[in-house]
Amino acid sequence: MSEQGKAASIEEKQYLLRFNADTKSHLTVLNANTCLTQCPDKICTIFCPAEVYKWEDIRMHVGYEGCHECGSCRIGCPHQNIKWEYPKGGHGIVFRLG
Ligand code: SF4
Ligand code: SF4
Repeated sequence: MSEQGKAASIEEKQYLLRFNADTKSHLTVLNANTCLTQCPDKICTIFCPAEVYKWEDIRMHVGYEGCHECGSCRIGCPHQNIKWEYPKGGHGIVFRLG
């Protein structure tokens, strides 16, 4: 099968998305200690399709700029430890067609 015939990679699909990131995060990890001591699996690093959450030694790094606004982290965190607000008007993700 030729290169062109292959399914689009995630990078290619993300090219169809445009981000207009706010300077202030719309995602907040409420209690860093909960992540450290009560969540051994750190499943936000797994369920987030945009890989926004990255565990760095003893804390969670939140790369909010890449958020796809799927809403999964509002229900996916077993400790309700993620505060999710809608990005302000004009910010966040823009979907392009074609
Ligand atoms: S799933 Fe929730 S508690 Fe666990 S590491 Fe992520 S934000 Fe922290
Ligand atoms: S809303 Fe979706 S894409 Fe954004 S941080 Fe949460 S799980 Fe990741």
